[in-house]
Amino acid sequence: MDSLSAVMASLTIAKEAASAAVGIRDHNLVAAQIAAVNDQLLKAQQGLFLYGTQMADIQNNLRETQDQLRELKRMQSERDNYALVQISEGVWVYKSKPLPEISEGNSDAVQPPHYLCQKCFDSGKKVVLQRTALYYGHALWCTACDSKLGF
Ligand SMILES: [Zn+2]
Repeated sequence: MDSLSAVMASLTIAKEAASAAVGIRDHNLVAAQIAAVNDQLLKAQQGLFLYGTQMADIQNNLRETQDQLRELKRMQSERDNYALVQISEGVWVYKSKPLPEISEGNSDAVQPPHYLCQKCFDSGKKVVLQRTALYYGHALWCTACDSKLGF
């Protein structure tokens, strides 16, 4: 915003110099005043260029921040569909919550019950756990981090 103030100051000085040149009859003095006006207009132009660059940076930052906010809201909305549960002593996973029925006959709104890897989900990755055999029993296996969670 300082560049915009500098632009306005340069334009004010240029206007004053132009006003002062109006009443001058001496050709050399007029040329000096015109040079002063041109100098201030050049400074104003440079200030506008700088202002434009700063505005472009601000707009880019705003766009990136809006994208990040949108992604965080999407992730939070996704997290609201799951609850942290203990499937056996010390073994935690995220369990899907039943989704409210949006409308009858809308099969897209139905999602079968499932579990997510807690480690991966907390780091922003949604990985549905798969049932697998583990030693003498069963486990839920994360295909991303290779965790095997016995139950
Ligand atoms: Zn995982």
